[in-house]
Amino acid sequence: MARINPDFAKEIFKYGNDDFNACYNCGNCTAVCSLSDKDNSFPRKMVRATVLGLDEKITSSLDPWLCYYCGDCATTCPRQANPGELMMSLRRWLTAKYDWTGLSGLMYKSLFFSLFSFIAVAIAVILFSAQLSFNTEAIMHFGHQFEMWAIIAVFTLIITPNLARMWWFVILKPDIKVKFKTYFREFKELLIHMFTQKRTLGCDDSQTRWFMHLVLVFGYLALLFTTVVLDWFGTENLFIILLGYVESIAILVITFIFVIGRIKQNREVNKFSQPSDWFFVIWLFLLGFTAFIVRGFIDLSIIETNLWLYLFHLIVLVQWALIIVPFGKWTHFLYRSFAMYFEKVKQAL
Ligand code: SF4
Ligand code: SF4
Repeated sequence: MARINPDFAKEIFKYGNDDFNACYNCGNCTAVCSLSDKDNSFPRKMVRATVLGLDEKITSSLDPWLCYYCGDCATTCPRQANPGELMMSLRRWLTAKYDWTGLSGLMYKSLFFSLFSFIAVAIAVILFSAQLSFNTEAIMHFGHQFEMWAIIAVFTLIITPNLARMWWFVILKPDIKVKFKTYFREFKELLIHMFTQKRTLGCDDSQTRWFMHLVLVFGYLALLFTTVVLDWFGTENLFIILLGYVESIAILVITFIFVIGRIKQNREVNKFSQPSDWFFVIWLFLLGFTAFIVRGFIDLSIIETNLWLYLFHLIVLVQWALIIVPFGKWTHFLYRSFAMYFEKVKQAL
């Protein structure tokens, strides 16, 4: 028998949506959602499970990750229960559930804790730079080393165990029998979704959104590769220098458009921004912006006399790598891709 958690609704309030109790089960959202079929009344099933406090059912479900937040359900809901935003809130809650450190939940629920973390990391970077006597060359060398080690450490210690927990919750714990070879056979599904985000194409109005996400994902990964592997700040190779400029400009332009969209709240997906949404787009924007300016200052040979700029870039980079990537909204990109993969694996039974 399913266990009921009487405090679950209150818990979800802390992750965003506090309107879902208004739902009177009319089914309009299910009628318009393209993910609905005869076996899955999407998203109403998740709304009912939340109202009833069936947290274990939601923990074992991939449904919140399958929703691509087109917003059609929210615009047709006669009770303004915002089912689309509820799916988003459930994704935040699940992110906290998968995270073994518990820090994701703290970040989502406490703005104070998030701000404290950002400030603590900034102070740590400044103190570390002071240790290096604010020597530009030594700090830039550290910045480059940090990028490499942060990627390895965050993926090994945080992201991989959290993905394993997701696998445990959605496949192992519910005792779904999957043959080992099925994981290999369907692996391409993971790569397709990770690199194309093609699920977003399911929204009628989202061809542009999909294209911008695609450019952002490739721009971000390419800039990461260019700075970490090709040493963009240290190289004198003209092709690599120009490549880095193009990638950082692409990130800058697209994140700027996303920030404006959130300010204007011109689409359903932008109407209910939580601090974690703002941190994600603003830090991504700052990463592209500061990287672009730092390389510009290197090319103008004025970086030595403007160390503050590199320090600012380093602070943004370290905050991004240690806070937003392992515990913030960045992880949604991974969980969503793995959810598509696990869904395919389950269907292949
Ligand atoms: S449309 Fe609104 S009121 Fe109707 S079932 Fe969906 S969430 Fe509930
Ligand atoms: S936001 Fe779109 S995809 Fe998500 S539940 Fe609502 S209608 Fe379905």
